[in-house]
Parts: sequence; C-alpha cells; structure tokens
Amino acid sequence: MPTAANRVATFGTTIFTEINDLAARHRAINLGQGKPDFDGPSAVVAAAVRALQSGQHNQYAPGPGLPALKQGIATHAAAHYNLDIDPDAGVIITAGATEAVFASVLGLVDPGDEVIVIEPFFDSYVPNIIMANARPVYVPLHPPDWTFDPDELRQAFSARTRALILNTPHNPTGRVFTLEEMILIAELCIEYDVTVIADEVYEHLVFDSARHIPMAALPGMFERTVTIGSLGKSFSVTGWKVGWVYGCPELVAGAARAHQFITFAVNHPAQEAAAFALSLPGTYFEELQAMYAAKRALIMQGLTAAGLKARAPEGTYFVMADFSDVFDGDDIEFAQHLTEKIGVACIPPSPFYSPEHAHIARKQARFAFCKSDDLLKQAGEKLAKLRGQPV
Ligand code: GLN
Repeated sequence: MPTAANRVATFGTTIFTEINDLAARHRAINLGQGKPDFDGPSAVVAAAVRALQSGQHNQYAPGPGLPALKQGIATHAAAHYNLDIDPDAGVIITAGATEAVFASVLGLVDPGDEVIVIEPFFDSYVPNIIMANARPVYVPLHPPDWTFDPDELRQAFSARTRALILNTPHNPTGRVFTLEEMILIAELCIEYDVTVIADEVYEHLVFDSARHIPMAALPGMFERTVTIGSLGKSFSVTGWKVGWVYGCPELVAGAARAHQFITFAVNHPAQEAAAFALSLPGTYFEELQAMYAAKRALIMQGLTAAGLKARAPEGTYFVMADFSDVFDGDDIEFAQHLTEKIGVACIPPSPFYSPEHAHIARKQARFAFCKSDDLLKQAGEKLAKLRGQPV
C-alpha cells in the first residue's frame, strides 16, 4: 500500500486547526488563532479591489515579487530601522511569513546542520527544520518572565550550528527581547558563524516603553541575518498571505532560490494593495498600536478578574496566562475545559515545545486579543465563571 512519507509522519494537525474546530463545535468565543475578527483598513481593501478590476494584475506577478512592493519594504526598513536594503536583490515576497521562514530554512540550511529554536516556538519552525533534514536544538524561555538562561543559550551553540530562528516580538509569550538579550544572541551568532532567521512579523505591535529591535540592525549582524515581515499582522489582512524576506542579497538569494520552487509567485492583486498599504503615513502604525493597547487592557482585565495570572505582553496580540489557581489539569485539558464548559477558546502552548520541555507550559494558556472590544468584553464575562468553580 502506498503511504505518506516518513518526513511528515510525525506531523499532527496544527493546534490552530484543532482549536478552531473545537471552538466551532462548542460555539465558543475563539481567542485561539491570531486572526483579527475585524477588517483591514478600507483604503487598503479598496486598493485590492482596484487591482482586481484594473485588468492589469490578474496574471502571475514576477516570481521574486512586485517591484513597487519590494521598494515599499526597503523604504519601510530605512524609515523605521535605518537599514539600507537593496529593493531589487535584497527583498523577496512570499506567501505569508510562514513560507518566508520555510524558504529561508530550505535556502540557508544544509542537511545535518543544527538550527537553534527558542521555546515556545511558532509551530511551523520545527517541521520546517525537519523537512530540510536539519536538526532542531532547543533553548527554553522560563516563566513567569519568559527569559532565557544565558548558559543554556551558550550551550546550544556548537560547530554544527548553522542557523538560529529568532522571533521578536515573540509569539506566544508577548516578549519583546531587550537590547541586552539581543546582543548576547548576536555575539554568539558571530562567534559561531551562525545565520539568523529573524521572524519580526509583530514589529509594529509593541506597547508602552517596549521598542522592537531588529536583529539585522545590530553591529555585525546585517550580513548574517534575513528578516521576515508580514502584511497580515501590520494591516489586519492575515487571509491575504503576503509576507517577505529582506536582508543582505547573498542570504536573500538562498531563500529566493527555494521560493521559486515552493510557490513561484505570490497573489498579484494582494501585492498591489500591499504596496499601497506600505505607502500609508507612519501615523497608521501609531493608531494600530493605540488600538491594540486598548484591547490588551481589556483582555488583561478579563483574565485577571477570572483569577488567571496573566503577564502583560510587551508586544504581539497574544497574552500568556497561568491558570493554576483556577484549574487543576494540564494546558490541553484546560483549553478543552475552557472551550467546552466556559465558552472561550484559547491555545495550549505545549505544542510549541519539544517533548522534553513541554512541562514548562503545563499551566499556561495563550489568548489572542486581535478581536473586537465587544467580543473581548463578552469573553471576560464568560471567563469570570472560572472563579466560581472548584479547582
Ligand atoms: N500566527 C497565528 C497564531 O500564532 C496563526 C497562523 C497559523 O495558523 N498558521 O495564532
């Protein structure tokens, strides 16, 4: 009997699909997957409609991406981070950031190489590394502050280390890595000649005094970093699946070679609209941050009132909460209980860990707050029921 390949034999259904199904079955308020329940800016949607109707943009876009969008990404990197990106050779457009990470791993890592991943990690990283026949090496973040132990980080590096995948602002913990943490990572990458695949898709979702620091902007890092960005996160259009890789042309060329044979080219009308989106004034990002700061306050209030120990995220639209005061089981059991009995869906973080470290998140749940204020308030009311229940 023909069977599926061994390469994918260990891959289960993603936790996002599982929780979406569970939430739908129980008609729960879904604070699981990071998917806004509101639309992107109407001017950006209108730009997509114009592109669809122009009669000019319904055939293949250039494989590496639309020149106007690549220029927009280079201009954005210069304006926000003072990075000098070649809009032609230093940028490619991908089918979302998920493809950007995969193309980068395939294009920059050889079979047998080791790739360092920080736990909890976004769930596609490790399958990407496995599909590249490379080996993941794990460095856990430790609650409640979700910091790494510098010695554990140092021990993960060896002569076999080819790359490190860094996600800041960090999903699912909401950490924004500090300059000190970034410099330690950078120094080790320089010492061991390691490439950084920097997933910075939540770059504009930072709160209070937190500042996003791009890895590529640190001394000595530009030539060893590819940076990944996402239209979906910054413009609330996750369904368009438009992402990108930018950085020094030698490394971007590796990702570009892989990208040609993964998706070839990305949705053309969406790229036209993405170029328009990136031309919006910088005040757009300030308004986005203010909107999310208010949503963060709402979810924090709901979680705290329900007896969960939630850590206010410095970035992203996720919050991690420790439920040990209100529920006795593990994170998977809690997510099931919360969805089925309380009517709110969340993501259990253990699938974002290697089996040896999954215990770290045993008492944690991730809540997405990229939802209408009304829905967040309703979720808060439902969560309050947790308090009255026996632990
Ligand atoms: N980034 C989103 C999240 O973490 C999910 C994306 C996906 O489902 N692949 O919730």
